[in-house]
Amino acid sequence: MRKKICAANWKMNKTSLEAIAFIEDFKKLLNFKTAVEVVIAPPFTSLEGASKSLKNSSIKLSSQNMHFEEKGAFTGEVSATMLKNVGCDYVILGHSERRHVFGETDDMIHKKIGQAIKHALSVIFCVGETLDEREHHKTFEVLERQLSLGLKGISKEALSQVVIAYEPVWAIGTGKIATPEQAEEAHKFIRKKVWDFYNMEVASQMSILYGGSVTAQNFSSVATQPNVDGALVGGASLEVKSFIEILKQMSYNFSGPS
Ligand code: PEP
Repeated sequence: MRKKICAANWKMNKTSLEAIAFIEDFKKLLNFKTAVEVVIAPPFTSLEGASKSLKNSSIKLSSQNMHFEEKGAFTGEVSATMLKNVGCDYVILGHSERRHVFGETDDMIHKKIGQAIKHALSVIFCVGETLDEREHHKTFEVLERQLSLGLKGISKEALSQVVIAYEPVWAIGTGKIATPEQAEEAHKFIRKKVWDFYNMEVASQMSILYGGSVTAQNFSSVATQPNVDGALVGGASLEVKSFIEILKQMSYNFSGPS
């Protein structure tokens, strides 16, 4: 189903106690109706605390990464089973920091997507071009490669467990959000690719989030683009007030005042 989603990627921030304090405050402020699904992705060590704090709430828990093997000699890694066991609903895969800082390849991301689906984890699959690639007019080529390799062999049924996040690398953590036109152009291209790889129905049901320097102040003109179904938020998700403001904006944009 094409859901509207507001997801927080906390990256390497917040201890377990800090994560719990955030969630408790956030739940208190979540006193309005919203059709937008909220997803919070704390670091591994805060997942268990966050999971307990999120019990009986509609907020979904996500990990920021995982390994593609079941188990074994992979020091420092965690498996899909471990994430399910701690209460994760989602896992973020292919984030640009994983690709560019930790050298993850399209092939590794593809294996991770398959493994997450096998273990009934929903996936936030991140794609996006670097500044250099954009300046050399390679945006569509890069998106097509990341999408085709990442989703290779994933059945159309399994795709209902996948959400795509368009995150231009040049917009992540830079304070430079894509223009509404740039975001819509990329999202439309992504939806068209999903149509080409699968079919129209699958493409129309795919949620495509925008990520890159989103704040409550700058997101509304991007959020109202026809192919934008929500946001993956880094920096502005670290403070309860700024994240709830983004959610309020999105709830208003997507369904009018609550
Ligand atoms: C992210 O890490 O996915 C992200 C979009 O970060 P920021 O919002 O800080 O640009």
